[in-house]
Amino acid sequence: MKGHLWFPYAQMKTMPAPLAVAGAQGSKIFLTDGRVLTDGIAAWWTQCHGYNHPHIVEALKEQADRFSHVMLAGFTHEPAERLAARLAKLLPGDLDHVFLADSGSVAVEIALKMAVQYWINRGQKRRKLVAFRHAYHGDTLGAMSVTDPQEGMHSLFAGYLPEQYFLDLPVDAATLRACDDFLAEHKSEIAAMIVEPLVQGAGGMLMYGPGVLRDLRRLADRHDILLIFDEVFTGFGRTGTMFACDHDGAVPDIIALGKALTGGAVTMAATVARRHVFEAFYSDTPEHAFMHGPTYMGNPLACAAANASLDLFEQEPRLQQVEAIGAQMRHELEKCKAIKGVRAVRTLGAIGAVELDAVPDLRWMRARFPAYEVWIRPFHNIVYLAPAFTIMPDELRVLTDAVATVLGEWAERGAKQRAQPMQTDLDA
Ligand SMILES: *Cc1c(COP(=O)(O)O)cnc(C)c1O
Repeated sequence: MKGHLWFPYAQMKTMPAPLAVAGAQGSKIFLTDGRVLTDGIAAWWTQCHGYNHPHIVEALKEQADRFSHVMLAGFTHEPAERLAARLAKLLPGDLDHVFLADSGSVAVEIALKMAVQYWINRGQKRRKLVAFRHAYHGDTLGAMSVTDPQEGMHSLFAGYLPEQYFLDLPVDAATLRACDDFLAEHKSEIAAMIVEPLVQGAGGMLMYGPGVLRDLRRLADRHDILLIFDEVFTGFGRTGTMFACDHDGAVPDIIALGKALTGGAVTMAATVARRHVFEAFYSDTPEHAFMHGPTYMGNPLACAAANASLDLFEQEPRLQQVEAIGAQMRHELEKCKAIKGVRAVRTLGAIGAVELDAVPDLRWMRARFPAYEVWIRPFHNIVYLAPAFTIMPDELRVLTDAVATVLGEWAERGAKQRAQPMQTDLDA
């Protein structure tokens, strides 16, 4: 391998050559060799308005002309103030206190740290977290520690990662009971529970009903434990409502946002706390201050992009588009159910996932999609779509056709080739 770039989740020695990009617009990625791909996964779920939306591009240019960055300690600025106020207004309940950061993992890190310090400020040492099987919360240390131990390489990093508690998501009476019993027994050491509302994304696009969030809220209240929703993936319309927690009105104590926050233009994330959480830090005691501060906190370019993205949610019918995408995917992915080796097809908002009964040869499968002029990147035993909300019906049709075609080819390759050893390939 020539070159100096080290690529994500990649065995650099054997990875296929990456595709060189010359540009992107809407749901299209233009390659330097002249090929054009329709993006089925919106650049890891970030491009909710499609690539290069003119309103966001314009906002970035205007802000770049004024100032690209200034530190947020000792200074404040209109783009950050405005973004915080708008997020507080959009989020349910009294999720009113917005801490800006750089990436989803960091937003999760901040949420966990905030939960632990919340209890310290209240005179209690609670350092453990409860997370759920199949969870994915990011790649930094704290975020990894609450990511599923089997899928999250806990054994590889044993001794380095803090050890947390993992429970089954309480999706039925037995698991709800188990969760309740566990919290009753351990609550004096537990700072918070963290969960991805409605869909566990990188853990396999596993979907569950909104009643589970209500139950978790009830358990958190009963045992006096903070509840954190990681909406880095689900936030900003992906599940059909602005935030996944809007489906049933369960308000977490802390919420983590990222990915589509800027419409995918610039990296940025946010951790937002409810008033009672904020108040545990708000005192005459200097040591009660929240001890965190990313260098690029509140980056004005990112804030400008995020504000422009929120404008688009106000001005354009994004949630209706999500609904239409969901309906079309539900209809068009239906035919995948007849393909041998397909275990399940599920959709939620603008997410469509096909689960296979074995982990395919991902190297082979990932290479097949560009042959049909689409960008789809299966992981583990999941082939999924999570396109931009502005995707056109005919573009979406190309994507669903490609999924069915490639899965058909995979089925034909036969059971022998299908049964690959389990890969440690984690990426989504
Ligand atoms: C992607 C993701 C993260 C991590 O975000 P990064 O920006 O990659 O650090 C955390 N939680 C969830 C649910 C995610 O989907």
